[in-house]
Amino acid sequence: MKTYNRLPVTFARGEGAWLFDTAGKRYLDWTSGIAVNCLGHAYGPLVEAARQQAGRALHVCNYYDAEVTTVFAEKLVAAAGMKAVFLANSGAEANEGACKIARKYSLQKYGEGRHTIVTLKGSFHGRTITTLAATGQDAFHKDFGPFTEGFVYVEDGGGRAEIEALDKALDRRTVAGLFIEAVRGEGGVIPQSEAFIKAAAAFCAERDILLMFDEIQCGLGRTGTFLACRGYGVEPDVVTMAKGLGGGVPVGAVLAGEKTADVLGPGDHGSTFGGNLLAAACGIVVLDTVNRPAFLAEIVRKGDKILDTIRSWKLPAVTAVRGKGLMIGVDITGDAHDVMVGALQQGLLILTAGKQTLRFLPPYIISDKEIDEGLTLLKGILEKR
Ligand SMILES: *Cc1c(COP(=O)(O)O)cnc(C)c1O
Repeated sequence: MKTYNRLPVTFARGEGAWLFDTAGKRYLDWTSGIAVNCLGHAYGPLVEAARQQAGRALHVCNYYDAEVTTVFAEKLVAAAGMKAVFLANSGAEANEGACKIARKYSLQKYGEGRHTIVTLKGSFHGRTITTLAATGQDAFHKDFGPFTEGFVYVEDGGGRAEIEALDKALDRRTVAGLFIEAVRGEGGVIPQSEAFIKAAAAFCAERDILLMFDEIQCGLGRTGTFLACRGYGVEPDVVTMAKGLGGGVPVGAVLAGEKTADVLGPGDHGSTFGGNLLAAACGIVVLDTVNRPAFLAEIVRKGDKILDTIRSWKLPAVTAVRGKGLMIGVDITGDAHDVMVGALQQGLLILTAGKQTLRFLPPYIISDKEIDEGLTLLKGILEKR
């Protein structure tokens, strides 16, 4: 189907931070497949784990325990500082699980009618009918209706007006949960302000509304802490993850805290492929590699290097530079898509997030030399604008 407007390149293979097209030309990958290939391409230990697991068993149905899946689940729960996890296959599916937890938690405790989930304007939560409804952008709310009911959107931002609007929207009689991206991804690479997250956490705690974070893009160390929400010093009730979690193999996760760990019981939820053995084996490598203080510190250092360098250029074409760790947004004058195409021609892969924002999500294993190479190419392109 013609669901993707593809750029004019066909890739054959990858190695570290590089991709090679079918003619053998190499491209520096600052996309990580949209925050998926966090350890780059063909990362040795990941390749080895996938090979070994494929030689043992790829799948066991959810009637049974499988050791590799249990190990992965335990490591993930520990890394996130949560209590329990449900394993799914994608971000949208993880978010569906989070919505189910919020609805059932509230129903059990407060009865019917308290099922609203508040999300943020400009957010992105996925492409299923429910996660499109959760996504706070009008552009996504057409063509496929009727959408799932029960979503309300509020403006994000740390100003008084936004926090007052949030206070009002979080009605203790009707709202089950608040679902937020600590750093907006698709919606422009915008880190939430400390004031907003702190206020949100306080309102939720006071009203027994679940504080839920969509960490599908910004989690897994991308911003320098294993969970981005922990960078704000708040305690989440539910966290969803996916994208980088399998290092390129599809896997999603809904993590539950103290309050929510036992909400879903037998028969409430399920997934044929969820907790798949191959995904679990790869996920273990990702967690063991990423969830170490020294590794996370490197993500911050590399991200700061990119941010500081771009700021130091003081280019007229660049109107704003922001980000956390290796999740970086650069606002430019003119069309971001044009810059993305120009960069591709010169062998640098970048993303956009809106019409005038460039988005960089380099793999965590990128070297300083590769960062410098990418920056040089980028400067050349932006200087000419
Ligand atoms: C990518 C993304 C999703 C959707 O994930 P899929 O795996 O494509 O379903 C949801 N939320 C956020 C924040 C994302 O970045």
